[in-house]
Amino acid sequence: MKKEKRFDDAVFSPIESDMEKINCFSLKPLKEEDVFVFSVILCDNEIDRDYERFSADCLHGLKELFKGVTGIFDHNMRAENQTARIFDTEIVTDSDRTTAAGEPYTYLKAHCYMLRSEKNKNLIAEIEAGIKREVSISCSVKRAVCSVCGKENGACSHRPGSEIEGKVCHRILCDAADAYEWSFVAVPAQKGARVTKQYTKTQRGEISLTEVLKKLDIDKDELRLSSAEALQLKSYIENLKSLADDGEHYKSALVKKALSLSALKLPKMDTAVFKEVLLKMPARDIEKIVKGFSEDEPDSVFAPQLSSDSCAKSSDNSGFRI
Ligand SMILES: [Zn+2]
Repeated sequence: MKKEKRFDDAVFSPIESDMEKINCFSLKPLKEEDVFVFSVILCDNEIDRDYERFSADCLHGLKELFKGVTGIFDHNMRAENQTARIFDTEIVTDSDRTTAAGEPYTYLKAHCYMLRSEKNKNLIAEIEAGIKREVSISCSVKRAVCSVCGKENGACSHRPGSEIEGKVCHRILCDAADAYEWSFVAVPAQKGARVTKQYTKTQRGEISLTEVLKKLDIDKDELRLSSAEALQLKSYIENLKSLADDGEHYKSALVKKALSLSALKLPKMDTAVFKEVLLKMPARDIEKIVKGFSEDEPDSVFAPQLSSDSCAKSSDNSGFRI
């Protein structure tokens, strides 16, 4: 049976249902003999060289997004040279193989067609001969989740590739956002790997937070951010918010400490007024006040390096030597 057999073959003969799908994308109705049909593996759930892997859900999302996407045979080629198109996709699970993350090996397979034209003759021959087998894809995802702590888009300090409790830290790519293109690569990037992929956070190429922040400065009149850039900015703001929360918490503890010490040292001080003043001060200045108040409190965490105790006991002033 063709249908069952074709999944193992890179090159196969289209059956009726394939032709129906192909004709959904074609301008003029095509017959079986007009098309060359083959399949490629687009991506899988194995941890890759960048210490990233697609989640199962993400692969399912990409399965839908890659339908109808054209393949190019050189990243620099112009649109008129794009000659193959994905007409169907499927998720295949190989239960005999387990990924480094301990999941059954699962991949996204694409079925593609190209016209049996004079222009495509050489390329078809190369695919048939198995010379052109490696593809690279360009897609974007909404979230990259840390495998150790679950924080998103680099919000934690776990470094992908480092070993934590016997497991390789990596990022799990979740929520497929877009599928841009796929292409045959001339030189296999990695021996033994039939598929290489590019994970791009924007439409073209990697973006850094610095670049997003630069945009805020440059685009004075109208600011345009891609969804990936907006997400990156959101993650940055969330990270800052969390740091601000910590700072807030620390400052309020300092104010409390300063107020309790002032009540002890300066009982006549108007606490409400002093509190107002403290709240307007930066944390490092409140630290100095607390330090000043704490000078003769040896068990205070803010006790100065040279306590008055050691000075009093010392007759040779060694307590003041640095
Ligand atoms: Zn983490």
